[in-house]
Amino acid sequence: MSKGQDSGRLYPAEWQRGPRYGGAYSFARCPVTRDLSRADIAIMGVPMDMAVLYRSGARFGPRAIRDASGQLRPHHWESDKLEPPFDTLRVIDYGDLDVFPGYIEQTVAYLQTQLAAIFDAGVFPVILGGDHSTTLPVLRACAAKHGRLSLVHFDAHPDFWPSSDPKRPVHHGTVFRIAVEEGLIDPGSSVQVGIRGSVSAGILQEVRTAGFNLITCDEFARQGVDATLRRIREAVSYPVYLSLDIDSVDPAFAPGTGTPEVAGMTSREIVELVRGLRGMNLVAFDIVEVAPAYDAAEITALLAANLVYEFLLVLAIKRSSTQANT
Ligand code: MN
Ligand code: MN
Repeated sequence: MSKGQDSGRLYPAEWQRGPRYGGAYSFARCPVTRDLSRADIAIMGVPMDMAVLYRSGARFGPRAIRDASGQLRPHHWESDKLEPPFDTLRVIDYGDLDVFPGYIEQTVAYLQTQLAAIFDAGVFPVILGGDHSTTLPVLRACAAKHGRLSLVHFDAHPDFWPSSDPKRPVHHGTVFRIAVEEGLIDPGSSVQVGIRGSVSAGILQEVRTAGFNLITCDEFARQGVDATLRRIREAVSYPVYLSLDIDSVDPAFAPGTGTPEVAGMTSREIVELVRGLRGMNLVAFDIVEVAPAYDAAEITALLAANLVYEFLLVLAIKRSSTQANT
């Protein structure tokens, strides 16, 4: 649908009218609303970081990503071939979900309730974290709607530590162990890409034993983007949940994060990985662990904003091709 066909439709603020760094605080100047009936995609923040094990600060991630997204224009460089995502999809900024600082369990439970409303409305959530525990309530709500999921997980860390400590079952390093235990994701059709650094061989063995397709960052560097995307496509079989921990990227390109690990992906590589998911049956996306206090010149937040934008294009291309075939 092009502009003008639906006079009640919401669009991002025109960049020709008023500077892009001005106006209301929203992702890419998208309309701020909670009216899900006017949305295909709802971008929302989860400003929580109480579940980290090292440096905190990801609670300010959503704010930093929105801030950096002011630089995004509606037209992608490929727009001679692609429609702008905001013409194909109705994208809103839903604002931030409610969190209760200091209360992890209560927050995770209430986030799930809030996200269930998004999925029930048939709206695709794009989540700006928040530390990686943000993903757990999204996965729970997503699996309640779509059934078992295949996880595509870009991260320096497997986040697969045992959740057996009764005092601290949920933190940003136990999320995918819990997701497997609860049957939310099928490890055999899930892929972790980018794992590296000072993690024990034991935990990597546990990830493999659980059935995950594990592509360490060294393997990724050797085989490259295309081979990695082929392996992802071969692996997934259920609806796909994409979880992108910004620390999958090298701290040279993404220093603004709580648990940086050297020898990671370049910003170009992570952009190409996200672009390469075009055509897949995606059902939810989160980008987590952006911690602006450690950022320099906004490079991490800018990368995160662009990754969200690239992801919106992935969804827009899917929508266009679906409409063309019906
Ligand atoms: Mn993580
Ligand atoms: Mn990580």
